Amino acid sequence: MARALPITHLQALLDRLGADGRTVVGPVARDGAVVLEPVRIVDELAQGWRDEQAPGRYRLVPGEPRVFGALLGPQSPKTWLYPAKLTLFRAERDGASFRTTSPDRPPRLALLGLRACDLAAIRLQDRVLLGSGVEDPAYASRRREVLLVAVQCHRSAETCFCASMDTGPEVSSGYDLRLTEVIDERGHRLVVEAGSEAGRAIAADLPLVDVPHDDDAASRQAAEARAGQSKSLRTEGLRERLLDALRGPHWDEVATRCLGCAGCTMVCPTCFCTAVADVTDATGAAERVRRWDSCFHTEFTHVHGGPTRAELAARYRQWLTHKLATWHDQFGTSGCVGCGRCTTWCPAGIDLVAEAERAATAERRTE
Ligand code: SF4
Ligand code: SF4
Repeated sequence: MARALPITHLQALLDRLGADGRTVVGPVARDGAVVLEPVRIVDELAQGWRDEQAPGRYRLVPGEPRVFGALLGPQSPKTWLYPAKLTLFRAERDGASFRTTSPDRPPRLALLGLRACDLAAIRLQDRVLLGSGVEDPAYASRRREVLLVAVQCHRSAETCFCASMDTGPEVSSGYDLRLTEVIDERGHRLVVEAGSEAGRAIAADLPLVDVPHDDDAASRQAAEARAGQSKSLRTEGLRERLLDALRGPHWDEVATRCLGCAGCTMVCPTCFCTAVADVTDATGAAERVRRWDSCFHTEFTHVHGGPTRAELAARYRQWLTHKLATWHDQFGTSGCVGCGRCTTWCPAGIDLVAEAERAATAERRTE
C-alpha cells in the first residue's frame, strides 16, 4: 500500500535528510530561475512557481499550487557532484621546501527534487568518472556519500525530450527516495517510495500515512508527462546519420547563429570537460584549481601552432556529434538525456533536436 507524507509535514523530511550533518540541496527560486541550493526550512523551497521553457526562453510564473511545480533550472546534480571550480590541492612555502594540503572534505549531500533525466545524467557521469578505468576522486567522494531524492514529473516542458532518449519521464531507478506530489480532494501530499536501504531508513522515520488509492500515482503522473511531451529526437541510426554528415553544409549555417558562448556545455548535466590551472599569490602559496571547460572555447584544443578547431562551425559540430554520436563509441551510450537545458539556456535559441535532425538530413557537400 502506498504511503504518503502530508505536505504539512514536509519539514520532517528536510530535517531527516539533514540529520547526520548532511547538507540538503533543493530547488530554490533565485534571480528569476530555480537553482539548486542548500535548504533548511520549507519556505526556502521554490514552492508556488512553475517554469515555462522554450528555445532561448525561461520564465518562472507564480500561482503554482505545488511545492515541486518547477521542473528544471539551469543547474543539475553536476553542479554539486562535479563542481564548476574545485581546488585540487594547495602548496605553501615551508622554508626551502613546500608543504601541500588537500582540499577540505566535501560536504555529505542530500540532493532533493531531482528528475528522471537528472538520475540518468548521474548514471552517465558515473560511467565516465567512475567506470572508465580512472576514477575521479573528487567526484567519487561526493557520489559515494550522496542521498538522491527524486520527484516524479507531472508534466513536460516544451524543451523536454527524455521519452525519446529512454531516460524519463518516469523516475524508475537510481533513487534513494521517490516522491510523487499529489493534490486532489483528499488533500496535498507526497507519496514516498524507497529505492535503497538508506531510503527505507529515512522513510521509516517520517510521519507517513496509508493512502491505498495512490499506488499508481507515480506511473499515472509519468504517463501525463509523457503524453504532454511534444519534442522527440529520432534516435534510430542517428549516430550513423550524423557521422555521415560531418562534411555537410549544415555546420557553417548553424555557426552563423551560434555565439560560441559555451552556455550549452555549462548547463548540460553530462558534459565533463575541465581545465587545470596553477594559481599563485604573492605570499609563496599556490593552488591547483580545476574548472569546467568547454569544446566551444577556442583554447580548449590548443596544441602547437594553434587550436585544432579554430572555426566555430567545427566546434559546434564537435559538440553535437560527440554528444549524440561518438559518445556511443566511447561510453556505449548517448551523451544526452533529453533534459533540454542546452536549448532553453542557449541565448540564440538553438535547438539541439532541430539541429541534429537538420544536420543529419542536409545534403552532403559534393567536393
Ligand atoms: S545535450 Fe542538451 S538535452 Fe542533452 S543532456 Fe545535455 S543539456 Fe540536456
Ligand atoms: S549553441 Fe547556443 S549556448 Fe551553445 S555555444 Fe552556441 S550560442 Fe552558446
